Amino acid sequence: MSVTGNLAAVQARIQRACTISGRAPSTVRLVAVSKLHPAALVAEAAAAGQTVFGENYVQELVDKAAQLARPVEWHMIGHLQSNKVKYLPGIVSMIHTVDRLSLAQEIDRQWRDKQSAACDILVQVNVSGEATKSGTTATEAVELVRHIAKLPNVRVRGLMTMPPFFDDPEAARPYFRELRLLADRISSEQIPAVEMTELSMGMSGDFEVAIEEGATLVRVGTAIFGGR
Ligand SMILES: *Cc1c(COP(=O)(O)O)cnc(C)c1O
Repeated sequence: MSVTGNLAAVQARIQRACTISGRAPSTVRLVAVSKLHPAALVAEAAAAGQTVFGENYVQELVDKAAQLARPVEWHMIGHLQSNKVKYLPGIVSMIHTVDRLSLAQEIDRQWRDKQSAACDILVQVNVSGEATKSGTTATEAVELVRHIAKLPNVRVRGLMTMPPFFDDPEAARPYFRELRLLADRISSEQIPAVEMTELSMGMSGDFEVAIEEGATLVRVGTAIFGGR
């Protein structure tokens, strides 16, 4: 199927998951993950009305952004090294993968120097505790958010997670639920300048379950652009 057809199918699945869980479709945004796919496919998706794209690698994101004529919104969703942050101001509108204070401090510095508005970020939480996964622990997340909240050029908008890979999407549900409960807990702390409105969770194999558990940003690659 074409990217345009795939997008329509994914949107229909999002609608259905919203109906099942009694949510307004406008509360769920689709982040089309275009990593390792050419800019031409991003352009096709943009022409079909897709506005938000996610990339994992800084160099690839910067190159692709430069190739697109149509203005789209870019989100950084991959593991981010501090020395690469300097390439992102003016290009990305959200960074989903902030998992340590030093990275947030570098984002604060770069946005202070290059942008008038603060950078929207999500704190990445390793809910499963898998050693191979990035992300702060659920226990450390509250303290991390407290520290990041003091940085004037960074705005905490919510949390992001990547559960372990399962064949059965239902197996991911407890991790999505855990992230939502953690966001509620952080929200109840009423930390100044911190919002817990965004939950970035769910990929091609499990985004419907993530929506049922409260996802506001679903990161979908394969179901839109095909295999990598
Ligand atoms: C690649 C990637 C996705 C998209 O995964 P698919 O299974 O292709 O939908 C989502 N989130 C992150 C962090 C990724 O690296």
